Amino acid sequence: MPDSLAHLTPSLYLCQAQHHRPIAMKINPFPRSIRYFLSVISLAAWQSAYTQELLELNIEHRCVFTGSKMDEELYRFSADDGMAKRVEEILTLGGALSNFEVVQTNVENVSAVLDGEKRYLLYSLDFVQKATEIEITGALAHEIGHHVNEHTFDPEHRNSEENEADQFMGYIFSLKAYSKADIETCLNKTPSSYNIGVEDRLQAVWEGFNRAERVLEINSLAFDGDPRLAELTMPGFPWPPPSCHSRFELPEKLFSGIKTLGETDRKIRSALNAKGYTQYSYFSVPGGFAIVTQLEQYNGEDGSSRNDRTRWLDYPARDNFNGVMDYLKSLVMPQKGHFRLFVFIVTNQPFGGGANRVSKAQATAWLSQGFNKLPGSLAKVPFSSDYNVTALVYEFEVPETNRKPIQRCPSPLFDARTHLLKVGILTGLGF
Ligand SMILES: [Zn+2]
Repeated sequence: MPDSLAHLTPSLYLCQAQHHRPIAMKINPFPRSIRYFLSVISLAAWQSAYTQELLELNIEHRCVFTGSKMDEELYRFSADDGMAKRVEEILTLGGALSNFEVVQTNVENVSAVLDGEKRYLLYSLDFVQKATEIEITGALAHEIGHHVNEHTFDPEHRNSEENEADQFMGYIFSLKAYSKADIETCLNKTPSSYNIGVEDRLQAVWEGFNRAERVLEINSLAFDGDPRLAELTMPGFPWPPPSCHSRFELPEKLFSGIKTLGETDRKIRSALNAKGYTQYSYFSVPGGFAIVTQLEQYNGEDGSSRNDRTRWLDYPARDNFNGVMDYLKSLVMPQKGHFRLFVFIVTNQPFGGGANRVSKAQATAWLSQGFNKLPGSLAKVPFSSDYNVTALVYEFEVPETNRKPIQRCPSPLFDARTHLLKVGILTGLGF
């Protein structure tokens, strides 16, 4: 340590005991004037790197990646540049936006904390420097998974939230191309802090891992007619559809003369394309299929579409096609906003509304499991008068006050028919 730093209070060191000591600069080779300058610089650098303040946090709602302890007194240490890059990479791979603050502090490894409305990702530089790459990725992905899924860390949700965080971790592991053997070794080495067995955790991790693989597989298919598409199993839409939607049965006459499910799909798709919808996902439903549109912002006063500039503004285009529901969980809107998405269900089976709302787990499935085209095997199925085409509208609102998207339930702002008319889809279908 340079002499010039000797006057600093010992407490500064005390709190830093587990962190790096500053690198002592060799100042002797320099002339006296430069030496003074350097010592001032080194003092400034040392202070910025090692000064910390008490981090006053309510840590009751938290997940500790491994272990359970958390020091009573947490200190905020200045950020490590490499960490921002790591976090950014995981968010990008996970298709999520940041909804938390990253703080270097004296935790055991990595921890997610929800203090009131504010979320923190806490990490220890010691851990980052001693752990392997896969351990760092796993710990960060798990804890980030808690935040982007807006977990509560309440004891009654602990198991399902840990499961969802592990799924997110598996999703990231897969996209980072870690092998299953390495992942298993890593998980055995870093046991859950919440008495969840390795077998159960691995199951959650593989679920996320496989989902990522499926997304990559679907995206790699270049053409609608690619025969490999038929070999993939189209994921199922939650059935019966989650509650809190408005519903409109499209009149039979709109589909007169239609001979196959593929033609039905083309008719709906061209009405959607004409109105600017370019992203949608396909799901199977009993006796048919469902098309889920991209989430869009609309005018709360009359249900009309926002102009092109703002309609999709907060839903940046992505390379992967999953861009529907995840934004609901991580979106931060500058002002009050109204959002909707349409689900067109083509089936010869009767259905009612499900008892549950769209849960986070279901929403995650919607975004990452849908196909971007109707498989040829289904497209060939004959369409008859037994089939109904039903439009469901799910509405969400981002209130100015808390900026969190909430599902409008039970009474939607407009009925489904009004939404379809206002956006011009009904006209496009020949209504
Ligand atoms: Zn956790």
